[in-house]
Amino acid sequence: MSNLVLSFNNKKIKKIKNPEYILGGKGTNLARMGNLGLPVPPGFIISTEVCELFYKNKKKLPKQVLKNIYLELKDIEKLTSKKFGSLKNPLLVSVRSGARVSMPGMMDTVLNLGLNDQTVKALTKKTLNGRFAKDSYRRFIQMYSNVVLNIEGYLFEEMIDNQKLNKGVLLDTELEETDWDELIQRFKELVKRQTKKNFPQSVQEQLNGAIRAVFLSWDSQRAKTYRKLNQIPDYWGTAVNVQSMVFGNMGKDCLTGVVFTRNPSTGENVFFGEYLIDAQGEDVVAGTRTPQHITKKAKIVAGSKEKSMEETMPKVFQDLKKTLLKLEKYYKDMQDVEFTVENKKLWILQTRSGKRTAHAGIKIAVDMVAEKLISKKKAILRIDPNTLGTLLHPSLNRKVERKIITKGLPASPGAASGKVVFTAEEAERLNDMMQNTILVRVETSPEDIHGMHAAKGVLTARGGMTSHAAVVARGMGRPCVSGSTEIIIDYNLKQFKSGKIIVKEGDIITIDGTNGEVILGTVPTIQPKMSSYFSTIMKWANEFKKLKVRTNAETEKDSKVARDFGAEGIGLCRTEHMFFDQERILSVREMILSKSIEGRNNALAKLLPHQKNDFKSIFKVMKGLPVTIRLLDPPLHEFLPKTDREIEEVARSTNLDSKEVKDRIEELHEQNPMLGHRGCRLGISFPEIYEMQCEAIFEALIECKKEKIKPVIAEIMIPLISTDTELKILRILVDRIANKIQKKYKTKIDYIVGTMIELPRAALQAKKISKYADFFSFGTNDLTQTTFGISRDDSGKFLNDYLNNKIFEIDPFVSLDQNGVGELIEIASTRGRQFNKKIKLGICGEHGGDPRSIEFCSKTGLHYVSCSPFRVPVAILAAAQSELKK
Ligand code: ADP
Ligand code: MG
Ligand code: MG
Repeated sequence: MSNLVLSFNNKKIKKIKNPEYILGGKGTNLARMGNLGLPVPPGFIISTEVCELFYKNKKKLPKQVLKNIYLELKDIEKLTSKKFGSLKNPLLVSVRSGARVSMPGMMDTVLNLGLNDQTVKALTKKTLNGRFAKDSYRRFIQMYSNVVLNIEGYLFEEMIDNQKLNKGVLLDTELEETDWDELIQRFKELVKRQTKKNFPQSVQEQLNGAIRAVFLSWDSQRAKTYRKLNQIPDYWGTAVNVQSMVFGNMGKDCLTGVVFTRNPSTGENVFFGEYLIDAQGEDVVAGTRTPQHITKKAKIVAGSKEKSMEETMPKVFQDLKKTLLKLEKYYKDMQDVEFTVENKKLWILQTRSGKRTAHAGIKIAVDMVAEKLISKKKAILRIDPNTLGTLLHPSLNRKVERKIITKGLPASPGAASGKVVFTAEEAERLNDMMQNTILVRVETSPEDIHGMHAAKGVLTARGGMTSHAAVVARGMGRPCVSGSTEIIIDYNLKQFKSGKIIVKEGDIITIDGTNGEVILGTVPTIQPKMSSYFSTIMKWANEFKKLKVRTNAETEKDSKVARDFGAEGIGLCRTEHMFFDQERILSVREMILSKSIEGRNNALAKLLPHQKNDFKSIFKVMKGLPVTIRLLDPPLHEFLPKTDREIEEVARSTNLDSKEVKDRIEELHEQNPMLGHRGCRLGISFPEIYEMQCEAIFEALIECKKEKIKPVIAEIMIPLISTDTELKILRILVDRIANKIQKKYKTKIDYIVGTMIELPRAALQAKKISKYADFFSFGTNDLTQTTFGISRDDSGKFLNDYLNNKIFEIDPFVSLDQNGVGELIEIASTRGRQFNKKIKLGICGEHGGDPRSIEFCSKTGLHYVSCSPFRVPVAILAAAQSELKK
């Protein structure tokens, strides 16, 4: 019961650990600023402990607390030489809420508390400024009635508007004292009508009412919703700040303003803010009058005619400047500051860390290191890795008006405009004609990949943040909006509907994968530049991180992008994507459809040169670095034709009749393909497929060597192993092919063989399996599916229910389930090392680009993470942060 009510200048505050927890952010910073010798109006904090007591005490303030409050109020009276409720020199206070973090869901502030029909007269007499006194009183009645008595604010605003209309004036400041007199009368009548009581005249009742209202607002629907959205626990509670008023509304030498110590959108080291003369509280942000600039320079840049504060009050501006510099030096971060000037005297009312764009965040961090304000370490820790994504994709020019048709999930960041197409083929056709397209599909499948490549963006009606469309689009760095459930696609009519709007093939739309918006027409985009600040942060991150960061890539282009971002190799090269190419898919189908091994070998021979060239182009980009190549993984039916027309086409080119093709498709059909004939099971049934793939890899290696390209470290990865015998058999296969090629070309080949751990049994049997494995790569997408027994593609139907019921804290396909899947990873790592001390451990799959999961990998002692090219910088930064947090 020690920290109930504390004045801002209480010495104890300095000794409290994490004072925000007890005193709230606002109160803590007011106290700190007082300590720094900055001009803060005196006041006190009613702590979050009281909030708890309040709720335990049937929502009443305990007697002891009330006693303390009035003791502290006495102190303010002494410091200000004013008296609460005095008829000579009345003290007015503000009552402000203050949770640990700033919370827009909370109570609004009540200003000018302590005014009533009598004290307002005293204030008039004392200040010889009736207009100011009445303006303050009417503001108080408005705010108190709204916040404490729950009367709708617009009712008051309407009355003010009517008064202005009658007087033929536009601004509140043009109303005279007598106008406010009339309005105050009407305000009080309104309160009487609405509450059946007079507006409270007792200043004690006013104060208790306002304090109560702050505590009650913690439990308001608004606040609860905000807490839920931002994962703020209910038990935190809020503090209340009671502070003596200073007045920016006393006339021409008064003002109120808000200023950032640096520009929050560009990060430039210049003050950025606004002020209003003869104004109070939120007038600056309320938009009733246009605020003016703080600095002369900003005024000139903006082309404004109104004088800046630097010009109107040069001396006070200098005080403000000194204060801002002092605050930055103390907090070592960009500050967002609220201030008021009363009769040319500066008062600081709030400071906090300013919100900023991703770009500004990076620039400010780098600049502050150069200014010796913070260390490199601090700079690295300060940047949210997830925000880097927005820096690498074009974004929409927000200044242009836009017509939003619908919203979906922001599946892959960036923005793109183009003609609507409904098939991958059409996207490719138009791409060849240099036209931009947006591929619109109910959902995408591996067959659409070439179309996704050709299109500038992808929009799907179904599927979540980890749907095929989302994952592939992120991998390619294509903007994607997925799960846009309001749109109804009609492939036959070649159109989609969203409500009443019909969009036809060829119509232009824009998608914004950063916020999920789908917009009619073109919206100009802004191209991102990798700034020197960005490179600097990456350089520092690379100095601190231990975990290697690789990329998931299967094309030369993606490999290049990833290298440019700093990828240290490839962690997952999926070979099947190379099969979908127009030219090759026929040979793939021929291979699958042939009934004899000769037929299959013939078709495979046609594929071999293609695969070899693919590998070669990737090896050239990744020279000297490790490249993990996964042998064929998906079930074969994925490669087969679906429509009748396609089936006939395939029949013709393979010299079969369409019935035979259909029969084979029927034969390959599986009830549950995820758990079916795929992964290493294909290699066991059709070893010739894996043989061809290995041949292609080894020949590509040898050709690179001949061309004097520094060879990559080829890591051949066998997918979906569950037993050691599977790996043993397939390892022998790989070694046999390697020997054959080494003999043929009389050259030695460097390669290692390992497996993907994506089945729980493999994790448990890791010791035995590691006998045949040089590396384990945790395929956490499938490992999550198989551990939970949840299909990622179908989880959308119930995932939200699981999140709402707090069964899942976070989508386990987005951020690794550290308890369950994580335990399997730990088990596999430990057991794998038991037999094979040198075993290389890494993670591929979506989690490799998720900062939380990366921290887990770092703690578990994995050697690398692998993620899509555009996530590489995110992973590098997250890896550095994990190291620094250890
Ligand atoms: P928020 O949390 O919404 O920012 P605040 O408690 O900061 O609310 O109050 C809003 C505004 O009220 C502040 O920007 C400041 O201008 C004004 N204000 C608050 N307390 C005082 C005070 N003691 N004297 C003058 N103005 C005040
Ligand atoms: Mg504020
Ligand atoms: Mg897999």
